[in-house]
Amino acid sequence: MIPAQFEYVAPRTLEDALRLVERHGDEAKILAGGHSLLPLMKLRLAQPRYVIDIGRLRNMNYIREENGQIAIGALTTHAEIESSALLRAKCPLLSETAASIGDVQVRNRGTLGGSLAHADPAADYPAAVLALNAEIIAASTGGTRTIPVSEYFLDMLTTALRPGEILSQVRVAPQPPHTGAAYEKLHQPASGFAIVGVAAKLTLGNGGTIEDVAIGVTGLGPKAFRAETAENTLRGKKASEKLFAEAAQHAAQGIDPLSDLHASADYRRNMAIVYARRALNRAFARAQGKP
Ligand SMILES: Cc1cc2nc3c(=O)[nH]c(=O)nc-3n(C[C@H](O)[C@H](O)[C@H](O)COP(=O)(O)OP(=O)(O)OC[C@H]3O[C@@H](n4cnc5c(N)ncnc54)[C@H](O)[C@@H]3O)c2cc1C
Repeated sequence: MIPAQFEYVAPRTLEDALRLVERHGDEAKILAGGHSLLPLMKLRLAQPRYVIDIGRLRNMNYIREENGQIAIGALTTHAEIESSALLRAKCPLLSETAASIGDVQVRNRGTLGGSLAHADPAADYPAAVLALNAEIIAASTGGTRTIPVSEYFLDMLTTALRPGEILSQVRVAPQPPHTGAAYEKLHQPASGFAIVGVAAKLTLGNGGTIEDVAIGVTGLGPKAFRAETAENTLRGKKASEKLFAEAAQHAAQGIDPLSDLHASADYRRNMAIVYARRALNRAFARAQGKP
């Protein structure tokens, strides 16, 4: 349970961190909150020669409005996202998702950037950022690029971040009017990780018609995904509990669910249906102004 030896570096600026990441390549690991990396190092599943601690970088911990979007710095902790007045007012799905992560200790140390860079198949944010159509900003010594979230999660623990890149920011749009969103999660009791987690966002048009819908699912497969067949079942129809139940049946469509000591593939598939229905019903209630 003791990590292999490594050299520790704590740059103070993003530019210095990027130069170090570029210089040390595969031999280096970035350290943010450490709540995924350190367990891996203790088990010696990761044995980096250099640990580049970005936790002391200035100006990477913020939540602010910028050009009509909400910009969140990669080092913003789960607890800060949970309690942010701006996010609670304008993008409550992200705060609700953050509040469901692990325990207080994990939420105080873990960061949004670390969670999204790690891309654990049971992590919570991936469902929410997919439902929110977020943008991921990746920085390198050559500048920054924007990755649409639909192109970001590639496989288990694998993202579209390239070697030499640091995830620097996440951008989400403020929630439009007549919209409700909800995150519903079956959590693994010891860690809090999602056995299945579903984030649903609904926008209502005239007469209760579903104008727009997005459903992000985590925990079920090797990477989080949008439940597109379920979304297509809903779009343009009049919202009702019956319709949500019908659409939720498609929540696991096309996915080969994971099976492990916490849940079998069949159980996960069934729970995806149950939690999709719950998330849709709650998002609908909120879109109507109910709690
Ligand atoms: C007991 C326990 C319970 C937990 N429960 C949950 C839960 O219920 N739900 C959930 O979603 N998560 C859970 N987690 C995980 C937690 O949310 C982690 O904090 C998160 O996954 C990683 O964030 P971090 O800042 O700690 O990253 P770190 O552990 O520091 O880094 C994780 C990985 O990402 C890389 N990395 C970090 N930041 C960046 C960056 N900005 N750019 C590029 N690469 C980067 C690192 O090199 C490393 O490979 C739990 C963890 C623990 C220990």
